[in-house]
Amino acid sequence: MRGWSEVGDGRAWASEAAGTPRGFGTPSYAKLAAMTASATARTAPLARDRYEAVIGVEVHCQLRTVSKMFCSCSTAYDGAAPNTHVCPVCLGLPGALPVINRRAVEHVLATGLAIEASTPEATRWDRKNYFYPDLPKGYQISQYDLPLASAGRLTVETTAGPFRIGITRAHLEEDTAKLVHATSDDGRKVSLVDFNRSGAPLMEIVTDPDIRTAEQARRYAEELQLLLRTIGASDADMERGQMRVEANVSLRLRGTATFGTRVEVKNMNSFRSVERAIEFEIDRQAASLDDGNPIGQETRGWADDRGETYHMRSKETSDDYRYFPEPDLPPLHVDRAWLDALRAELPELPAARRARYRDRLGLSAYDAAVLAGDPGATGLFEGTLAADPSLAPKAVANWVTGEYLRLRKAASTDEPVHVDASELAAIIRAVEEGTLSRANAKEVLEAHTTTGARAAAVIAERGFLQISDEGAVGEAVDAALAANPAAVADYRAGKEQAVGFLVGQVMKATRGQANAALVQAAVRERLGRAE
Ligand code: ADP
Ligand code: MG
Ligand code: ZN
Repeated sequence: MRGWSEVGDGRAWASEAAGTPRGFGTPSYAKLAAMTASATARTAPLARDRYEAVIGVEVHCQLRTVSKMFCSCSTAYDGAAPNTHVCPVCLGLPGALPVINRRAVEHVLATGLAIEASTPEATRWDRKNYFYPDLPKGYQISQYDLPLASAGRLTVETTAGPFRIGITRAHLEEDTAKLVHATSDDGRKVSLVDFNRSGAPLMEIVTDPDIRTAEQARRYAEELQLLLRTIGASDADMERGQMRVEANVSLRLRGTATFGTRVEVKNMNSFRSVERAIEFEIDRQAASLDDGNPIGQETRGWADDRGETYHMRSKETSDDYRYFPEPDLPPLHVDRAWLDALRAELPELPAARRARYRDRLGLSAYDAAVLAGDPGATGLFEGTLAADPSLAPKAVANWVTGEYLRLRKAASTDEPVHVDASELAAIIRAVEEGTLSRANAKEVLEAHTTTGARAAAVIAERGFLQISDEGAVGEAVDAALAANPAAVADYRAGKEQAVGFLVGQVMKATRGQANAALVQAAVRERLGRAE
């Protein structure tokens, strides 16, 4: 009986789909691929043009709490010895009773507010039953038909413009233990269970099947990560498994309304692999349908090294889980005062921040997106403007999106690049006032980030103080003209390059400290005057 109704729909649809290309006399995708040297490049657009992808994304993220979902065990188990953060509740021992973690509930409620979802006045917990060695109770406490948030939305920026995605629900559940597959000392293959993660609070966020391209899906995952980090609900690091993204992908003939049978793809551990896995899956399904092979409902894994998805298991349906209300926990009431307090605590959300950067600070959409898309950049940008409100936002944005992000990219990941906002403000001010050249300013910032030295100290120590005093620059220019009569004569004879030579002489004499623009102007002014 597994998955009957959906598989049945999919088959009826898929055979119809498979017939169509042949009706148009188009060779099958696979045959074309075999015939063509540059197979993918030349045939993929054909299949893709015929089909439209329908995608829904499920995200699981670990919530940022001190203790686990239903017990007081610490969630700080990263790097700890296995099975050191456990108790009868998260080990699933008989008779142990769960207690709800208030902070975890608040994170999901805050997420709901941030995605403009509705919150039920009361919710309850449900048992999702299945057997697996990482689930000692034989069920996971989750939420079935009364999620803490429902009917929300999130808008993402894509290369084709803004795109709005409906969010079906966000609910709370507990994480499973972790299986470790290893080889024992006597050479046997063993599977070990580490219960440290068991019972950690997990939020599942499910989108409507609104997504149509792999890029939209990647952008959704990126925007959701930014949102969760901004409100402090989760650290949402994909590589560390704090945010797990699964994509449900189906195809339908363009212009048709019925959905095809979906395939769930998991095990993507980066945003790039989310996009690649979906691209691959769209091509795979298109080729299969063109060949007359209907898609069966299944769960597939993504093999990043091979760049392809592979069959993991046929998909369970909710009937198989035998959901029923959790008898060990009371229903949870969400009163309006609690919700209002959470709303009042919400920080500025990424979308609002981008809009403010564009509309109020006059930044380009690109700069606004880069700054708001990176908490480090956001903090430095805001801090620098706060340290010196007279600075032009555009100038500060250039330094943060340019130099700061470049330094951070070049640095090793375990040593975070730190820039004091007040020091960056001092550097930018010196450049604007003409006492520090742009090139030297970059060096000062780099020295500050690596040694922590103050900008003023680096400027003094390296002799970077720029001579912008007109009198001093004038004296240096006069001296250079007097010392190089031949160059002056060359200029008079029409050799324009002599100006560059004379400017170079002044810069040399001042050890690069003269303001180059002022020197240039002074040289021209004097040569012109003497004529
Ligand atoms: P499950 O219990 O299988 O994980 P969920 O309801 O939690 O199911 O999630 C299903 C996801 O698949 C949602 O994101 C939904 O939008 C998406 N989805 C449902 N039907 C289709 C379809 N035919 N094609 C693509 N995605 C779909
Ligand atoms: Mg699901
Ligand atoms: Zn515990």
